[in-house]
Amino acid sequence: MARSNKVAVITGGGRGIGKGIARIFTQNGIDVVIAGRNFEKLEKTAAELKSPKAEILCVQTDVSVQTQVERLFDKTMEKFGKVDILVNNAGIAEPMAPITDIDMKLVDDIVGINFKGVYYCARRAVKEMLARKSGNIINIGSVEGLISLPGIAYGPMKAAVHRFTKLLASELAAIPIRVNCICPGLVLTEMMEELSDRDVEVFLVHIPMHKALVPDDVGKLAYFLTSDDARYITGSIIAADSGITAATTGFNTSLQDVEKWMKAAVS
Ligand code: NDP
Repeated sequence: MARSNKVAVITGGGRGIGKGIARIFTQNGIDVVIAGRNFEKLEKTAAELKSPKAEILCVQTDVSVQTQVERLFDKTMEKFGKVDILVNNAGIAEPMAPITDIDMKLVDDIVGINFKGVYYCARRAVKEMLARKSGNIINIGSVEGLISLPGIAYGPMKAAVHRFTKLLASELAAIPIRVNCICPGLVLTEMMEELSDRDVEVFLVHIPMHKALVPDDVGKLAYFLTSDDARYITGSIIAADSGITAATTGFNTSLQDVEKWMKAAVS
């Protein structure tokens, strides 16, 4: 695959799903800018993904801080002169807890990173994309924004990202700048590290296809969505979830239910 002459900014590109997306993009000749708070991690990933087909720029960024997001895009423009693709992937999770136990600082962080970060990045990327009258934005949502799984701040913020996707897609369709959202199911990244092997087993029993995704699966879907083959797809919220959201009754929704499964699994 030759160089595509496209430039993608991937937030949270240093590990997990973001790294999978960066790998598939670079393999397909797309230059990438990977952003995250841990610069060392970004550099390590860049060294790992190094390829003659694509350049990789690392920019230390906290997406919840607007000035840092501006700096991320300034650096991207300085190096590449354009932004063709934005992948809003950076995010943090929330431990399962009832609302009365939830740490309000964590709620603020989830709002700041998982929603405001998406907003800041999209706002600046759109400015650059409008100048060239084209662009692609992929937001990473979640099944937790589609159905009620435990995560009293995380799920609602992902649902906000889904709604934001639709609004932005309709605002920018005529340019055209396409905006889509991928909702992964279970992907066994660092985000899922708090799950024990037993928890994972129990989840897999309840997931209709009994399979977790790997980060590259999300990367391949993101690549397709940014390609010309997807030129009429915009405003779509696409679940890549091994059937979790297909099962209308199969996946229990309350924290109590999940606790019940866990107890049943170990008894
Ligand atoms: P990881 O925890 O493995 O990676 C999260 C990434 O986000 C890291 O690169 C991290 O880098 C970055 N990040 C976190 N906070 C910030 C911040 N303030 N500014 C910039 N970067 C930040 O998670 P996943 O790869 O699993 O998750 C990626 C996305 O996919 C998230 O949006 C998540 O909600 C979503 N998702 C994940 C699922 C899963 O099962 N894993 C399922 C559904 C959705 P650093 O710490 O260096 O800043």
